[in-house]
Amino acid sequence: MASVIPPGRTVGILGGGQLGRMFAIAARRMGYRVHAFDPTSDCPAGQVADVEVSAAYDDIDAALRFARDVDVVTFEFENIPAETLAAIAEIRPVHPSPQVLHIARHRLREKTFLHDNGFPVTRFRPVHSVDELQAALCELGCPAVLKTVDFGYDGKGQARIDKPEQAADAWRTMGRLVGILEAFVPFAKELSVICARGQNGVIATFPVAENCHQRHILDVTIAPAQIPEATARQAANLASAIAAKLDVVGVLAVEMFLVGDGKLLVNELAPRPHNSGHYTFDACVTSQFEQQLRAACGLPLGDVTQLRPAAMANLLGDLWGNGEPNWLAALAFPDVKLHLYGKGEARPGRKMGHLTALAETTQQARNLVERARSALLS
Ligand code: AMP
Repeated sequence: MASVIPPGRTVGILGGGQLGRMFAIAARRMGYRVHAFDPTSDCPAGQVADVEVSAAYDDIDAALRFARDVDVVTFEFENIPAETLAAIAEIRPVHPSPQVLHIARHRLREKTFLHDNGFPVTRFRPVHSVDELQAALCELGCPAVLKTVDFGYDGKGQARIDKPEQAADAWRTMGRLVGILEAFVPFAKELSVICARGQNGVIATFPVAENCHQRHILDVTIAPAQIPEATARQAANLASAIAAKLDVVGVLAVEMFLVGDGKLLVNELAPRPHNSGHYTFDACVTSQFEQQLRAACGLPLGDVTQLRPAAMANLLGDLWGNGEPNWLAALAFPDVKLHLYGKGEARPGRKMGHLTALAETTQQARNLVERARSALLS
């Protein structure tokens, strides 16, 4: 039975970045009150929430005070300490559950879960020392990718190893007690499927997104992906099966590699809205953020139909290198939507906002979003 938290009640979000901000916007639009918890004050979510709670993630007393004031808790940040989450879960429903987060925030547990349940992943080995790394390289071959098991995002904490002689350096640079070595995947495309699963087990998958990275950071997403219909169906089925197996209540983003022969391999899971799903905000009947809200509050999921082909381009802090970007030039494109996250300091590589373009085809949307982004520098 779904426990329904209707509009007018209060939702709490752990993590105050852009994902929390867009969640708060979706929730407030539907009449919910929003409390955002983040270590920094005036954070992106805090700026649009009703209440901003500024405290460290390991401040359990503050987390409990935050939880007492809300009806349900969700999160946008995966590295909330397990103790904090467990304390909150004692007194309030948390969706997705701490068990889901426990698996999804740790690459080794995540890949093991996927592999053990028959989902396709690249070959991988846990590594605890340079010797184990050398042995794993012998088994998996080169090239391979060494990754930290946690706290890795946007390619941080990972190194490609092309020759066994690079192992010692890669291990030292990683600087952790445990890592995961993955066989390198010579992928044709990177895809992602954002799905949502309600408290009643109903699953809705957004159209498959196709992602292009620059310097390991998502640069442009186009949706729907330019892939055969059968591949899209296969990707959606894969994401749905993972969401069901994990027993997620909330949003699950499933990143995948499409390899040459049409095979899909799962790269990573995120039990929350995802950068590659930002296009849903402007292009779909229901956004990924509204789905997160609906699932957490026990409401029926919304329609995931995409209304127009779309492309999303991230705006990184680099764009501020020569001063404030030329917003008016980008806003001169009527089919381009601007999203800014309210972050004060524009550092290189920092996600400051994004643009979404809507057009007749994904290719046109891509051209449009890239032209609008270039115009920011004019
Ligand atoms: P991740 O942090 O695991 O999402 O990885 C960031 C990016 O690194 C991915 O989007 C891929 O472009 C690349 N990558 C990660 N793992 C592999 C792999 N096993 N083989 C090839 N490329 C990878």
